Formats: sequence, C-alpha cells, structure tokens
Amino acid sequence: MNARPAIESRTDAGGCTEVPVLRERGQREVFCGLTSIIWMHRKIQDAFFLIVGSRTCAHLMQSAAGVMIFAEPRFGTAVIEERDLAGLADANDELDRVVDELLARRPDIKLLFLVGSCPSEVIKLDLSRAAQRLSRKHYPGVRVLSYSGSGIETTFTQGEDACLAAMVPTLPQAAADAPPSLLVVGSLADVVEDQFRRVFDALGVGPVHFFPPRRAQALPPVGPNTRMLLAQPWLADTARLLEDRGARRLVAPMPIGVEGTTAWLHAAADAFGVPAARLDAVTAAARDRAMQALARHRERLAGKSIFFFPDSQLEIPLARFLARELGMRLGEVGTPFLHRAHLAAELDLLPRDVRLSEGQHVDRQLDRCRAERPDLVVCGLGLANPLEAEGLATKWSIELVFTPIQGYEQAADLAELFVRPLARRQKLVA
Ligand code: SF4
Repeated sequence: MNARPAIESRTDAGGCTEVPVLRERGQREVFCGLTSIIWMHRKIQDAFFLIVGSRTCAHLMQSAAGVMIFAEPRFGTAVIEERDLAGLADANDELDRVVDELLARRPDIKLLFLVGSCPSEVIKLDLSRAAQRLSRKHYPGVRVLSYSGSGIETTFTQGEDACLAAMVPTLPQAAADAPPSLLVVGSLADVVEDQFRRVFDALGVGPVHFFPPRRAQALPPVGPNTRMLLAQPWLADTARLLEDRGARRLVAPMPIGVEGTTAWLHAAADAFGVPAARLDAVTAAARDRAMQALARHRERLAGKSIFFFPDSQLEIPLARFLARELGMRLGEVGTPFLHRAHLAAELDLLPRDVRLSEGQHVDRQLDRCRAERPDLVVCGLGLANPLEAEGLATKWSIELVFTPIQGYEQAADLAELFVRPLARRQKLVA
C-alpha cells in the first residue's frame, strides 16, 4: 500500500494548465440535457420534471430511465402533437391543462420544472413565460420554473446546470453580516452527501448547505459570505449566477479519488480556518481505508492505457484520478467543454504530456482512437458497441454520472468500474 501523503496547503505545482488543447467542431455523439432528469428527479424528492417535447423525447426518457422506475415517476412528457405546431395558443392552453391535471392528481409536487426540448424550441414555445403564468396560478403550493434540456449544442450534464441555474434566482438572500457558510453545489448521491456532512461537522465547518436541496422548500441562502464548493465540473452557468449573488468559489479539484477528495475538503477547511493537521486527523482513517482498497485495483490498472471521448464533462477529473492514483497511461482526454477556471486545480494535477481535446469531430477522433488501440475507451453508448465490435474494451461514461463515485468510501468502487470492462475483454479474448 502507498504511504498516505500529508495534507499540504496547495496542489502540486506544474501540471498542464497551459497545455494546448485540440479544439474540434463537427458531428457529435452525446445525449441531450433531458437525460440529467434521471438523476435530478431522484435528488429533489418533491420536484416534478415535465418535459415539453415530442414522442422522441418521451422515448429517450423511457428507455434511459424506464428500468429505474419503481414507484410513480417524478417526470413525464407533455407531448407536442402535430396540431400544436400550427398554433402556439393551442400549445399554451394544452400545457396549462396538462399542468392543472398533474398538480390536482399529485399534491406531493412542490416544485414543477417545465423542461424545454428541441421541438418546443423549434415552435418557439416560451416556457419561461408559461412558468411565470403557471407559478402565479399555483404558488405558494407549487413553484413552477423552466429550463431547456434541448439537445442542440449541449451535452447531457448541462441539463443539471440549466436546472440549477433556473433555481438560483429563487434562493433566499443571506444577510451581508451573516456568518460564513459553505454551499456545496452539484448533485451528489444522498449517501455521499451524508458522508461529507459528517466530515464537515467533525471539522467544525459550517453551516453547510447542499444545492440542489433534497426538498424544494429547503432552499439554501446565498450572499457575500457564501463560500461555494463545486461538487461537479459541469456547472458553469449556475456558478456564474451564484457569484453574481455574492458567493465566492473555492478553488479545488473535484472530490474524486483520495487525492481529489482530500484537496476538496482542504479547500473548505482552509476557508473556515481549520488547520491542515485537524483535517489530517479527521480524515486519516477514511483515507487509509480508501488507499488500501485502491491498492488491489491498482495492480489491475497500472500501465494500462485509456482514451476518453467527450461526453459527461467528468473526463478530466477521472483522468487525473486514474493516472495519479491507479497508474493508468492517459491517451487523449476529450471533454465536451473545458472550463479552465473551474478545472484549474484538476489541470494542475494532470501529467504534462496529456493530450486534451475539447468538442468533437467524431470521425477524426475515432481514427485517432483506432490508431492508438488503447486498453480501455470511455465513451457514450452510441460509440461503445461499434468499438467493442472492433475489439476495444469500453466503459459507458454515463454510468459514471449515475453511480455514487465521490468521496473516500466510493474511491475503490469507482476504480472497479474501470477494472470490470478490462476483465470482461480479457475473458472474451482468452
Ligand atoms: S430534446 Fe431534442 S435531442 Fe433530446 S430527445 Fe428531444 S428531440 Fe431528441
């Protein structure tokens, strides 16, 4: 087992912050923002996501989430029919009727999102105006907000960014003289959230709020004494709006792997004046356990090469974890969008010779991947089957978004997600 490193006051110098990035534009192979509803509807437990879209949108959601529905779902689709395309007045009336019926049938709904789609944008249905109209009618029992999950020029994790950005204006204002508070921004599985809350409590960091909240009415306050810690790398618009409300972003890598989690917690501890020695003491046992659990996966992964197609926006934090904690060799690390400021601490930790790409020209990238023949490819569902047929082991990137992967307790589970496809491929060729 590797020795547990001491907690230092900053991440390693060097890395590849200035490394050139290959920017590509062309055909892309990604899911649209509607997909994020699959994890968002689990997170905010009294919210409902009403997609205003076509049968295609409904089919996407059913096939992506169908197997996961075990109770009455908290999302649905108001299908835009052909006759709606002819007259917007009809579409608005129809939407009001669907919402009225839904809210009458489901008194448990406290927050309703009207989620725009390609079809609603094509017919220029103004969902923000519809949300205001419906909110006036149903508030205070139900607040109605809107955002776009359309697939045009987006990737699926941006659906969460758009959803949270729509909520920011509804957050209460924290007083200018309120004591400092920590706002953790980005959906985390409840189990992960609970683990982090226990660590913050043990450190004496707080009050701590998580955004999104589990209940629609438990909105966290935001103001000039809010310290914001991003838990996901895809929150460009949300973070900007929170900064406009006075929140200050703490610079940290994502809480992925032992190193990332420690640096992330360290950023919070530092902002609240908690000495590094205290963080060391509070987290020592969990870090030791995680490093022991990672060691057995390192044996399987060290020296193996990995290639990332741009999909979830988690690519850079995952690449950092796999290279530094598991000894994998990074080929191309593609990301749909590179937010240099939010990922500065991640970029600092990547090997200097990493090949970063942003955006996608899928044919050219496939050519590079085939030429490289990596041991493992991380990609979207649409590319996985063809690449498997060509003899490459693949990992679906969307699975990494649905699975709890943050924090010490999940580090080994995350590593195992990369071990499994390699083991499966080995069996196939044996
Ligand atoms: S929003 Fe657009 S990309 Fe997404 S399922 Fe509907 S039509 Fe397809």
